[in-house]
Amino acid sequence: MNMIKAVNIHKQFNQLEVLKGISLTVDKGEVIAIIGPSGSGKSTFLRCLNRLETIDQGSIEIEGDVLVTDSGQGKVNYAAEAEARQICRRMGMVFQQFNLFPHLTVLENVIEAPITVKGCKREDIVLQAEELLRKVGLAEKRDVYPSRLSGGQKQRVAIARALAMNPDIMLFDEPTSALDPELTGEVLKSMRKLAEEHMTMIVVTHEMAFAREVANRVIFMDNGEIVEAGSPDAIFGSPSQARTRSFLQRVV
Ligand code: ADP
Ligand code: MG
Repeated sequence: MNMIKAVNIHKQFNQLEVLKGISLTVDKGEVIAIIGPSGSGKSTFLRCLNRLETIDQGSIEIEGDVLVTDSGQGKVNYAAEAEARQICRRMGMVFQQFNLFPHLTVLENVIEAPITVKGCKREDIVLQAEELLRKVGLAEKRDVYPSRLSGGQKQRVAIARALAMNPDIMLFDEPTSALDPELTGEVLKSMRKLAEEHMTMIVVTHEMAFAREVANRVIFMDNGEIVEAGSPDAIFGSPSQARTRSFLQRVV
């Protein structure tokens, strides 16, 4: 069973075709890096996986459960609301902008969704949240408000917050792009730790060194398509497509 099976995903915004038939399957414990120029549809693809955007065509299964199927004639059928929500909850997402609640402390940020969305008991989830904060190196920031944190610390809280929902899959959309260069390392370290624990992950990133070292598979997207996919060695060492080569020459 695949953790994610996305087939022939099409997405249009008005007249603009942003995803032109993207297919991707992800197995348990895999770390997928998606790279590609700005505007190529990377964020839109991630957002389609967890229904932050709806798709126009194609199908998505998460751990064997159907989120959306293609019913032909350019139409799709989504699972019923409760089921769809339950499926998407298995994916945690971390965004470029951290989106922490400014009026809640670090700990309260982490326990908010488990309590309000999942109905967890406060005392149970607090222990787990403290453990997660330890894991991202922020145990001592438990009672601090986000405005007192650096960007790297905020992003690590965002990671802990996503993990508190006990996801089976983590989606990262350029998690270090809003950070000063000296702060990216600490966030990448937390992500690397997750990968070592065999979390299934899709990471949209401009951090080529991270993609090369941590990903099992690298996907190069351009203009709404997957141009090339392969092992980090293949993509970075001997890309077969001219578009991949020219992108890598620009960024590496
Ligand atoms: P990437 O993450 O690779 O930079 P995006 O998925 O953010 O690319 O965007 C792909 C294209 O879709 C861009 O041209 C962008 O302007 C457009 N787009 C993204 N979201 C929307 C939206 N909600 N409405 C209209 N156009 C959008
Ligand atoms: Mg993006």
